[in-house]
Amino acid sequence: MPLKTLEYPNPKLRRIAAPVESLDQVKDLIVKMQEYLETPSDCCTGAYITASSFGVPLRVIVRRTLNFESDAIYINPVVRIKPDSEMYSSVELCSNFGCITGIVQRHTLIVMRYLDKDWVQKTRSFDGRTAIRIQHCMDHLMGVLFIDKCDSARQTISNLTREGHWY
Ligand SMILES: [Zn+2]
Repeated sequence: MPLKTLEYPNPKLRRIAAPVESLDQVKDLIVKMQEYLETPSDCCTGAYITASSFGVPLRVIVRRTLNFESDAIYINPVVRIKPDSEMYSSVELCSNFGCITGIVQRHTLIVMRYLDKDWVQKTRSFDGRTAIRIQHCMDHLMGVLFIDKCDSARQTISNLTREGHWY
């Protein structure tokens, strides 16, 4: 069965993801997450996805790449903001929200420590859009959604709900 992203406001999106204890625990999950990213199902399939978006509360982020090269899987990620980072107004989509967008303030420079697909610990810097997408994913792992950080999206969502349809 292919994975399907949960639709907001499913309460499972609010669960805090637990650390992964072994590669075996997430091997099948990672393959399915990669398949999800490979399959263009709708306009909102992004370049990054978290296990949390499917209702699996484990600390896993997968990035879409051309050939799923080694650095596309981030297990048990932790992020810190670089001291010289600036703030950027990011227009964001989320696979759990259909095609709603919202503006969120994000940092432009981060460092992430994680385990890769071979369970090897890595530390890597990210900037620009990649840094922003990773912050969006890190929020998911804590049960935080982009609408929590952006008033304009909340506005949009309540309007759409009132009209009785989700675009
Ligand atoms: Zn999202």
